[in-house]
Amino acid sequence: MGKLGKGVDLLDALTAVCSREQVRCGKIEAVGAVQKARIGFYDQQRREYGFLVLEEPLEITVLVGNISLKDGTPMVHAHVTLADETGKAYGGHLVQGTIVFACEFILQAFDEPLLDRGFDEATGLPLWTMAD
Ligand code: ZN
Repeated sequence: MGKLGKGVDLLDALTAVCSREQVRCGKIEAVGAVQKARIGFYDQQRREYGFLVLEEPLEITVLVGNISLKDGTPMVHAHVTLADETGKAYGGHLVQGTIVFACEFILQAFDEPLLDRGFDEATGLPLWTMAD
């Protein structure tokens, strides 16, 4: 368990924790608040991410994700739901550009399975290379 400092990039900071702790496989969850956010939505037809930029303080009502290896280094794949002052929520795939106000996380590392990411033809995404 740990916390992230004010002003850091949420995804970069979580990834740095995983690298520092040498987490190759695991799960992560967090709550807190951000100063602003950038979240992605994958367009399944165009096979590319579109991004929603929210230039306002938001609560991290939930962040949940997994950690696995991509190109030999830990990759955090996380989704967030963020709420504004009226309680209205936005959700999506966490990308760089979400800036922490305060964040408490729980990181759980596993010994296995050791999953690696590779290009998935069916979706265009870097998914786990394993049998469906
Ligand atoms: Zn995602």
